[in-house]
Amino acid sequence: MRLQVLGSGSRGNSALLWADETVILIDAGLPIRTLTERIAATGIGFKAIDHILVSHGHLDHSRSAGILAKRHGATLHCAAQIHEHPSVKRAPDKRDLPINGKTTLEPRRGSAPVELTTVKIPHDCEPTVAFRLEHGGRRLSFLSDMGEPREDAGQVLEGAQLLVLESNYDEEMLKGGPYPDALKRRVRGVGGHLSNEQMAVMLTRLAGPELHTVVLAHLSQKNNCPELALEAAYGALARMGRSDVNVVAAKQDDPLEPIQV
Ligand SMILES: [Zn+2]
Ligand SMILES: [Zn+2]
Repeated sequence: MRLQVLGSGSRGNSALLWADETVILIDAGLPIRTLTERIAATGIGFKAIDHILVSHGHLDHSRSAGILAKRHGATLHCAAQIHEHPSVKRAPDKRDLPINGKTTLEPRRGSAPVELTTVKIPHDCEPTVAFRLEHGGRRLSFLSDMGEPREDAGQVLEGAQLLVLESNYDEEMLKGGPYPDALKRRVRGVGGHLSNEQMAVMLTRLAGPELHTVVLAHLSQKNNCPELALEAAYGALARMGRSDVNVVAAKQDDPLEPIQV
């Protein structure tokens, strides 16, 4: 498998996954014009996306899912609770995403299927899930928008070669930053996001011997900076004796280079 993060942050999140010939979009939260341009720049053609996964109903993850599913003739997988959400409503083929469950994503022409497992995570949008995707013996885990570290999520998502992990805010920057107090409490709360420190806790749980790359995602532009998030991740890995793992920070305004899972 190969993953390309198209953009990540509070203004929209989306990543493309290739599993042989099957193309899967994980979240579609960038504005449709931006998303269309970034998808076209990967070189895939018209009607190339087979599946679109939506982790939860917040617009920075779901915004363009319905319109893109319609254009590509893709199957849209989202929680039953958000089927009528304006952002996904127009998708012609919608499936219920299993919550704390498994499903098989139908492959394109002769490719092996992709096994999808979801685990529910704490966030103020019910339900929010993290993804585990397996294909040809390789595993990608994708975890974003989580209010606090959880053991059960760790169990489902461990054992991945490539891990996409939220690292939303730095405690000190949030404390001294421009957000009103109520919003600071929301970000920090169980319905909010993972801090760099909490990311490091999850990373320690998720980093198995097969892990080679971590992508830090959903970095706040006001309450975090890539240097602090990377330092927290490399620090956690160093304490585990894992100086071999590569860490990159995803960006809001530019896609990352594709990464082999
Ligand atoms: Zn969210
Ligand atoms: Zn989000």
